[in-house]
Amino acid sequence: MEKKASGSKKHIVEIVVLALAVLLAAVALLLAVPDPAIVVNGQDDVEVDVFATYTDAGARARFLLFDISDRMETENPVNTARTGRYTVRYFVKFLFSSAEAFRSVTVADRVNPVVTLQGDEEVRVEDLSFFNDPGVIAVDNYDGDLTGRVITSHTETAFTEGERKGETEYIFTYSVLDAAGNGGFAIRKVIAKDVTPPVITLVGEQNVTVIRGQPYTEQGATAKDNVSGAVAVAIAGGVDTAAEGVYVVRYMAEDAAGNRSEITRNVTVRAPMPAQSGGVTIVPGGSYVALTFDDGPSSNTTAVLDVLAQYNVKATFFILNYSESHIPVLRRMLNEGHTLAIHSYSHDYSAIYTSAEAYMQGVYKMQEKIRNDTGFTPTILRFPGGSSNTVSKNYCPGVMTQLARRVEAEGFTYFDWNVDSGDADGNCMGKDYIVSNVKKGLRSGRVNVVLMHDSGPKTTTPQALPEIITDAQARGFTFVPLSSSVPAVHHGINN
Ligand code: ZN
Repeated sequence: MEKKASGSKKHIVEIVVLALAVLLAAVALLLAVPDPAIVVNGQDDVEVDVFATYTDAGARARFLLFDISDRMETENPVNTARTGRYTVRYFVKFLFSSAEAFRSVTVADRVNPVVTLQGDEEVRVEDLSFFNDPGVIAVDNYDGDLTGRVITSHTETAFTEGERKGETEYIFTYSVLDAAGNGGFAIRKVIAKDVTPPVITLVGEQNVTVIRGQPYTEQGATAKDNVSGAVAVAIAGGVDTAAEGVYVVRYMAEDAAGNRSEITRNVTVRAPMPAQSGGVTIVPGGSYVALTFDDGPSSNTTAVLDVLAQYNVKATFFILNYSESHIPVLRRMLNEGHTLAIHSYSHDYSAIYTSAEAYMQGVYKMQEKIRNDTGFTPTILRFPGGSSNTVSKNYCPGVMTQLARRVEAEGFTYFDWNVDSGDADGNCMGKDYIVSNVKKGLRSGRVNVVLMHDSGPKTTTPQALPEIITDAQARGFTFVPLSSSVPAVHHGINN
């Protein structure tokens, strides 16, 4: 019994050992079995263009010798519409183990932006400043419109000789980078050359007439170029005012690019036309005397008129403002063929020369008054002190320069004198002194404008007249009243 019992105890031990052995073997077998494996097809790091179609090359899964790819799962997040780095994951689970593998896929913008020129590839202008750049349009396949990020630069090459002399060539480069750093550019050629000559503009008229013997004043011309701006004008061709004929004065200008232009002015020098004044024909080169009396009318004026009437000589009276009692003497002047002319409203330099306007106001006041009193409208003038006076500088610098121009522009004619009788050298000069001054002053071949005065104190002036008249007549002079037909006798202006 005991023996039997010990026998069955031995069996139990064997079974337990065997079971343990089997268990150990199973564990050992399990531990020895390898994990499944995944092999990625193709490159495990792939780069794809944005917007391209991406087809994943896939992977294969094995377990020992068995292909278990059909059990493999793939996570493919690749979106080719967006640049970036994506990871494709392959995963498989088999029995008690699993495996995974990865592929890196980079979606990249590798395409250069496209820069398209607006306008022409080659442009010709007269100057770069005239080039109105139409620019470019820049578009990137991924970033879209990049026009606002285009950088424009240019090179410059100037040609100073050869066929292209005067040209400057500018190469414009328009370049842009996209966000991925791909660059694009376009090029334009701009050729600048000034081909337009300057425009010359004459100062004054194109056709000018000068009376023989009178001075020709060159008024010049100005020139403006589209590129160079104001350019100098060269003048060629002289005018000989002593010889009648048509003279062509040439005006030439050249711009910085060497474009030249030229215009001309025709100056005709012609013989003076005989003029009529107070019934006297004034022949050029003839000998005339125009007696002029300033500062009247006065009590003395009648004495002057009487002598003139006696010798049938017509003269000119430059009058100041007058009282009503003098209206008859003014009418007499006109009736007897003298020229009634305006001196000024007063002889007060400090009043009349404060401005050109002040003087002119006095002139118009006088003109109006004389017209009302006599029906005659005077247009002949003499400035108190003459146009050469300097006293007016004390009251208005430049006033005589302004007045000389203005009176003529407003239809008046002014006269100075070229013979001074000297009757105003003192309050009342001797008769012989006056006669002698006039005799000495008269010259043949011109109009002698004699300065005399018929103001109150100048009583010797009418006394000197008979001798002056008879002497001049004996010497062949003709007496003439002044009018706008008489050649002007003007002093040089000093203010
Ligand atoms: Zn005077």
